[in-house]
Amino acid sequence: MKTMRAHVFHGVGRTSIEQVPIPEPKPGEALVRVTLTTICGTDLHIVRGEYPVKPGLVIGHEPVGIIAKLGAGVTGYKIGERVLIGAITPCGQCRACLSGHLSQCGHGEGYEALGGWRFGNTINGAQAEYLIVPAAQANLAKIPDGLTDEQVVLLADIASTGISGAESGGIRIGDTVAVFAQGPIGLCATAGAKLMGAALVIGIDRNPTRLETARRMGADVVVDAREGDVVAEVRRLSGGGVDVAIEALGEQTTFETALRVLRPGGTLSSLGVYSGKLQIPYEAFAAGIGDHRIVTTLCPGGKERMRRLMELVKHSRLDLTPLLTHHVSLEDIVEGYRIFGEQRDGVLKVAVKP
Ligand SMILES: [Zn+2]
Ligand SMILES: [Zn+2]
Repeated sequence: MKTMRAHVFHGVGRTSIEQVPIPEPKPGEALVRVTLTTICGTDLHIVRGEYPVKPGLVIGHEPVGIIAKLGAGVTGYKIGERVLIGAITPCGQCRACLSGHLSQCGHGEGYEALGGWRFGNTINGAQAEYLIVPAAQANLAKIPDGLTDEQVVLLADIASTGISGAESGGIRIGDTVAVFAQGPIGLCATAGAKLMGAALVIGIDRNPTRLETARRMGADVVVDAREGDVVAEVRRLSGGGVDVAIEALGEQTTFETALRVLRPGGTLSSLGVYSGKLQIPYEAFAAGIGDHRIVTTLCPGGKERMRRLMELVKHSRLDLTPLLTHHVSLEDIVEGYRIFGEQRDGVLKVAVKP
């Protein structure tokens, strides 16, 4: 039996690079040789035991690669084609998928909460030499000629997620938008706000390097949350409150601040993953009658989403390469996790080459 190297989760704080069998694609699946992947904040949550997954699983959910084998029934693809696969791999056939809620895919049944997220969650993931793609027909997105792995790898998850925050927020041409936290997802939300036609995008963070990158990604103004009263400053900049506030951190304080900078009738688009209890202060929420909208989104996936995002890159509307600050080989991935986890050395995203 042929084997491959893979980054396997063994329990809280325990992962290792090891040899595991190269899997065979079943009907409807594809085997992809991974040429580039990355480490996600969610992977850190898994390793730290903050998000439960089964020990023995290969981690990772952001793959770019080359089709190595096609299972029975997958049509329109050839061995050797370069593909991008979203972090979310919907079946494309169930009630949730056909209703447009691909991230909550029930795999041929109805809805399953977060069911579209399978890689490194319920099935083996992308931090390996090879990867089985489920529902391949719905998930293999061919990479246009001329685009490099580095240009598209971040579309699989963080760009799809970040931009979805701007889309779900319903940003309209001329809107004023505040984006809270300029980590990888917040930076993509900033880019998304600009793409959606916002007139003024305000980027907020506590890290000067990240604020600098925010300007590159589309922020017109940046606010350092360590200095002064963020709510007052954003309200001043926006002339009394923003149309849309995007929360991209997942903490009570940023959620609350995002609510406090909204104009009446504004929308809070939440991308954060919260733990414990989230509270909504009644005065910031106008006791529930301020015509506010609060919307949440899980990373949209599937091949059509990936195709659309790649079009943005192909036509030079979106450049994510400034976010790939570090590169490691699969052998050195544990070091990559350390740099990423400790936010060392100005890290935003770590590219991993199997
Ligand atoms: Zn992720
Ligand atoms: Zn489905």
